[in-house]
Amino acid sequence: MQTLSKPDESRLWADIEALSAITLPDRPWTRRPFTPLYAQGRAWLKREMKSLGLEVSQDAASNLIGRLPGANPSLPPLMIGSHTDTVTGGGRFDGIAGVIVGLEIVRMISESGIVLDHPLEIVDFTAEEPTDFGVSTVGSRGMVGNLSDTMLGSKDPEGRILSECIAGAGGSPERINDSSRRSGSVAVYLELHIEQGPVLIQAGLPLAVVTGIVGIGRYQITVTGQPDHAGTTPMTMRRDALTAAGELFVKLESICRESYSAPVVGTVGVVNVSPNAANVVPGEVTFRLEVRSVDPALIDTVCERYLSEARRMIESRGLAIRIEELTRSEPVNVSDLILDTLQSNCERTVGKGTEVPRIPSGAGHDGNQLSRIAPIGMIFVPSLGGRSHCPEEWTDIGPIALGAEALARALLELDKKL
Ligand SMILES: [Zn+2]
Repeated sequence: MQTLSKPDESRLWADIEALSAITLPDRPWTRRPFTPLYAQGRAWLKREMKSLGLEVSQDAASNLIGRLPGANPSLPPLMIGSHTDTVTGGGRFDGIAGVIVGLEIVRMISESGIVLDHPLEIVDFTAEEPTDFGVSTVGSRGMVGNLSDTMLGSKDPEGRILSECIAGAGGSPERINDSSRRSGSVAVYLELHIEQGPVLIQAGLPLAVVTGIVGIGRYQITVTGQPDHAGTTPMTMRRDALTAAGELFVKLESICRESYSAPVVGTVGVVNVSPNAANVVPGEVTFRLEVRSVDPALIDTVCERYLSEARRMIESRGLAIRIEELTRSEPVNVSDLILDTLQSNCERTVGKGTEVPRIPSGAGHDGNQLSRIAPIGMIFVPSLGGRSHCPEEWTDIGPIALGAEALARALLELDKKL
């Protein structure tokens, strides 16, 4: 078997610079989906894919796909992907690092004279980040048949309809459900992504194998007291909804800080106070909380315990509480075969003496959707300062190149195993 050539750091870096430079000039690094800039970024990517000899197409959900034929055309494709949209003011690496590593892997394979048995598809998934339509991972949802008519019909604040935007981006929204890929039609889905958290950078390590993607339980809680004059109502006679809710914020933190069999994180990220005036005792507080873990049973246990404590605490103050479940997404777990293959190839790549930790992904990815039809695997590279979704987002090219090498090696192994 031919030896696989090494990734070229300067080539990888030039690609990251070229694509990330396509940004709103006054709000770096921004490339929102369904905008002219997004189309410009994709035009660049399409040219790169063609120059590598890939067959370029867009599916019904407007995902941009570059395909390298395999020796055995009857086999389902191996897939490497990520996304080229960003959050507003978001970073230079989130998403595009994974797509560009996909291109580099195609170059490494071609330069080495290797012909894969399976076809290989490099995918830029449409609109992975949360959109103004209230839907995220739009393209990967569409690819696996999980983009409902309600989602397709949703409007953004400017009144644009998601299905029309998908059509404008080169998709055929009316064909999405009929043409979606079925279980088994993709051999494996692999993605390199920046960690977006502090674990690798603090440990001084270049690569991690992702064990799974956390599930999320989200709730909305409304605490109702009574709005009264902030000057004339004695402290003993108040029914302050905000001080009561404040206790609940701290309670979520303390429950999630306990130690469990897998990591658990809990956050209150939205708070609305009514009437929100300096001279009125708050009469009503509505807040949203979420709990994340890779273990679905832990999400249940933590949420149930928290919600029953919350009820007890509010009732003991004589206030009213209303709890609504907003959404619930199940965790994705990576199979042992994929974990072991990624682990051994990461270890071979980084060399003896450098640990390759296994960590869960606390953020959602296109892999959530792909896991509905295929085994998935992910590699993380370090985020400087653990920062992401901000202009300061940074990952050195060294670990990105190591990640490309490890992923390419794992791909060659899986080409034979699957
Ligand atoms: Zn991302």
